[in-house]
Amino acid sequence: MQTELKNQPLRIGITGGIGSGKTTICKLFETIGIPVYYADAAAKHLMVHNPDLVSQIKAHFGTEAYTQSGELNRAYLAGIVFHDEKKLKLLNSLVHPVVEKDAQAWHARQQDAPYTLKEAALIFESGSHRHLDRVIYVYAPLELRIKRVMERDHVSREEVLARVRNQWPEEDKIALSDHVIINDNTLSVIQQVHKLHRRLCSMTKNNV
Ligand code: ATP
Repeated sequence: MQTELKNQPLRIGITGGIGSGKTTICKLFETIGIPVYYADAAAKHLMVHNPDLVSQIKAHFGTEAYTQSGELNRAYLAGIVFHDEKKLKLLNSLVHPVVEKDAQAWHARQQDAPYTLKEAALIFESGSHRHLDRVIYVYAPLELRIKRVMERDHVSREEVLARVRNQWPEEDKIALSDHVIINDNTLSVIQQVHKLHRRLCSMTKNNV
């Protein structure tokens, strides 16, 4: 993976299927002082506040992509991209590079951290793992994920499954990951996080 300047904190990605517990686990890392970049939240922010990205989205999807007050017209965009895979790819190809640039600038400001985390649902699908030193995969069985998301978002099983279908097969992503955290209610996630934290703290750019 990437080699950069010595003494830079490592860039660690954290991903996993929908409802696997990525955010929950990132909060645990935050409690022990690790800075976390939430890529999906950043993407939502940048789609409204990055002028170049806004222009690009309007150029490709029409000015209707934004409301009069400058908010993203999510229903309009969703109506296009969730029925047309090419349009979804196009939108991602506009958004992901802007998020990556923002994430790198954020990372460069975290000089005192032993490593930083970048949380994203689509780390491999977007190719952003190429910019990371290591990737953690949060695993939970599909049935548990469906149950958690149905409860959290008050959505139907079918709606959760539709979101799952937009992601790559789990086994492919686990094979590409360097570490796995199992969040299936049988193992202590706190212990797993602490163990992994110690391991990541002992690594440098030269021995990843
Ligand atoms: P998404 O892919 O939708 O962003 P996520 O992977 O970030 O989801 P979370 O939001 O962290 O997943 O977790 C999904 C739901 O499951 C949340 O309501 C969370 O509180 C709950 N949850 C996650 N892990 C656990 C756990 N170990 N014990 C109990 N509840 C959990």
